[in-house]
Amino acid sequence: VTPVLVHGASGRMGRSILRLMEPMPDLALAAAVTRSGRHGLAPGLELPSERLGECPEFRVAIDFSLPDAFDAIMSLCVERKAALVSGTTGLNASQDAALSEASIHIPVLWAANFSPGVAVLAELVERAAAALPGWDADIIESHHVHKRDAPSGTALALGARVSKGRGHEPHYAALRAGDIVGEHTVQLSGLGERLELIHRATDRDIFARGALHAAVWIAGQPPGRYTMKDCLGLS
Ligand code: NAD
Repeated sequence: VTPVLVHGASGRMGRSILRLMEPMPDLALAAAVTRSGRHGLAPGLELPSERLGECPEFRVAIDFSLPDAFDAIMSLCVERKAALVSGTTGLNASQDAALSEASIHIPVLWAANFSPGVAVLAELVERAAAALPGWDADIIESHHVHKRDAPSGTALALGARVSKGRGHEPHYAALRAGDIVGEHTVQLSGLGERLELIHRATDRDIFARGALHAAVWIAGQPPGRYTMKDCLGLS
């Protein structure tokens, strides 16, 4: 059984992770880290973020927090030689570089999106963009009003796949409305025709399930920087 630290445990994603992890035989909660440490989550296992260093032993950390909180959990994972699965979006370039640096010492899997559908979408987008180099490329994304970063991490990751296929970035449009879990449309527009590749998430449990699957998988991996493609065997 792998002991797991959940970082950002009181958030929308953190709560889904805690609920779905409970019946899983391979994973056991070591600590639920929240900002105040007083949400009544996981009795006896909730820890305020300022006492992160006191966390009991864990083998994998699952992080869905905010960019400001990310450096602390990454350093702790390196210090404890534990694996890191993170879905926190809006990280800056130096945080991304630090993640690659950390992966020399520990296994890390950061993904802008943990849904299997988006992992396949990314493959299709790269293929389509490469096959239609002269067409306009646009990415339209919609999320709930509480989402802080825009364009979404998923839109940027899909944009990187478009660039890979044709050498320049697409345009982005972001919509924030109601309780939309997450929708992404990659639109390739030619003269007289248009190709649209769309993913709609209707339940954020898909991201939580993907991250928990990644946590089970990464516990058995050597240090390195992994993607959902590795974890889902799409490579
Ligand atoms: P949220 O605002 O509901 O939760 C964020 C949580 O982080 C809050 O509970 C907050 O208290 C906590 N936090 C803030 N500072 C902290 C600190 N110093 N220590 C510990 N916890 C701290 O947001 P959310 O909707 O749960 O999303 C969290 C992150 O995950 C965002 O970056 C979001 O974009 C991303 N996300 C990723 C995926 C994916 O599949 N990769 C899916 C959904 C959301």
